[in-house]
Amino acid sequence: MKRVVIVGRPNVGKSSLFNRVVGRREAVVEERPKVTRDAKEATIDWEGAPLAIVDTGGYLAGADGLDAAVSAAVEAALRRADLALVVVDARVPPTEEDAAIARVVRRAKVPSILVANKVDSPGHEPAIWEHLALGVGEPVPVSAMHGRGVFELLDLVARRL
Ligand code: GDP
Ligand code: MG
Repeated sequence: MKRVVIVGRPNVGKSSLFNRVVGRREAVVEERPKVTRDAKEATIDWEGAPLAIVDTGGYLAGADGLDAAVSAAVEAALRRADLALVVVDARVPPTEEDAAIARVVRRAKVPSILVANKVDSPGHEPAIWEHLALGVGEPVPVSAMHGRGVFELLDLVARRL
């Protein structure tokens, strides 16, 4: 079974995206950032084939950004991944943490899709292009909260696997 792993700094909406894709409220959506939670995994049926979706989290609990231990944890999460969804918050410019995670993804040589989350309306779309600078591909706009763009994202996932 192919595995799609969701990575990104805290509070960008990884768990919200996971829940949206899985269609259940499995992962805990945190109102407060940096609360440690275990990785969650679920299997969905996508176009007749099972697909494992993994929500990561908890590895960014440190207060001072992306240290070596965090990089190692992201690398570990990517080790068994066929595809990484690199989630960013499209409403703010890329941060150091986003850049550090993108670097780890590039180094791991895992195929990736850059997911620009929190694009709740078309007005938010122009801002996604700032994230092109992360070097992990063209941003795909979604709103995990409202479901906007999620079908298109899954379609892209299926084509990349
Ligand atoms: P995680 O830390 O990356 O797993 O992020 P969460 O899924 O826990 O979400 C963090 C916060 O962002 C929560 O308050 C969510 O309700 C909010 N959020 C997630 N997705 C969206 C979205 O598409 N639009 C908006 N406006 N907020 C979102
Ligand atoms: Mg989470």
